Amino acid sequence: MNAAEFLPDVQAVLEERNEPSYRMRQIYRALTGSLVRDWEEATNLPRGLQAALSEGAPAAALTLERVSLATDGTRKYLFYTSDGHAIETVMIPEKARRTVCISTQVGCAMGCTFCATGLLGIKRNLKAREIAEQVFVCARDIAPERVSNVVVMGMGEPMLNYDATLGALRVLNDPDGFGLAARHIAVSTSGLVEKIRRFADEPEQFHLAISLHTPFEDERRGIMPVAAHHTIPELMDAARYFVARTRRKLFFEYTLLAGVNDQPRHVEALAELLDHPLYHLNLLRFNWTDTGFSATSKADARRFLEYARELGLSATLRPSRGQDIDAACGQLAAKDLRGRPAIPMA
Ligand code: SAH
Ligand code: SF4
Repeated sequence: MNAAEFLPDVQAVLEERNEPSYRMRQIYRALTGSLVRDWEEATNLPRGLQAALSEGAPAAALTLERVSLATDGTRKYLFYTSDGHAIETVMIPEKARRTVCISTQVGCAMGCTFCATGLLGIKRNLKAREIAEQVFVCARDIAPERVSNVVVMGMGEPMLNYDATLGALRVLNDPDGFGLAARHIAVSTSGLVEKIRRFADEPEQFHLAISLHTPFEDERRGIMPVAAHHTIPELMDAARYFVARTRRKLFFEYTLLAGVNDQPRHVEALAELLDHPLYHLNLLRFNWTDTGFSATSKADARRFLEYARELGLSATLRPSRGQDIDAACGQLAAKDLRGRPAIPMA
């Protein structure tokens, strides 16, 4: 995706005005490097062009509606798109890291039964510009601290909006754009196997996480409708392809749901399934959503982790962050202050 494809409305204004071709580069740098949100801030552009752009191609594609701050320092951003959809983005501080968790769709079509985004259904894909801009706004907000990592783990299934997601990640990675190293960017998918293979073939060293959540086929179908389309053996074939092709670590996300997928037999089956030294099991406890599930206790989650390590798995238990503002994994539903979807999804 080149600058003109990333910024089609800007391109249209430039063409209409017969502007010289270097203008696009200046504008691209202003948005992705200087992080301007208003064309008046792009002081290297002539006033007439600033005005024409403000009219036909606003510098901010997203309107920032609200920033919520959690007691642990996590920040949640509620944005509106220009056509009135609400989306959320989260910034998680951890020691020297500043990780931004971004959304790729308005809602999600995958319908995982424990996920607040899944309850919304899908409205539309976000554009590359809207995906990348979430990071630009966070970066401006936390300056002079810097965004160190980006994870595509917010609202939506990134592999169902593949081109726009990759386009946005390339802009974030571009040394001439935002300039974040590819190894500091990770994408999470519920497990679309063709797209995992395609992702493995991309030249950049982006990381990948696959949401597994149980090693058993029937259980996976019960909580993740996508499992009806791709069996676990098919998923593991794609996983093997990814590590063979990239030699990169591959993460398996595993949300511990009390009494559902947190028993010793799950650890034992995982130890059989995750049989590659580059596989890493990322455990997290269920964050509350109104879906009827409950979280495995901290003590049980620790026991699960220890047993997994005993059986030879490389595994970690990720702490939940930002729960008091509904900013943790799976809690993004772009609600207004009364707890209703900020824009009705129906
Ligand atoms: N759609 C992608 C990425 C966004 S979800 C995916 O599903 O992988 C990011 C992670 O949060 C996924 O592993 C998802 O299964 C997990 N998740 C969803 N709801 C959750 C919840 N309520 N508690 C904990 N994790 C949850
Ligand atoms: Fe969509 Fe991921 Fe939520 Fe499943 S867990 S509904 S794929 S956002």
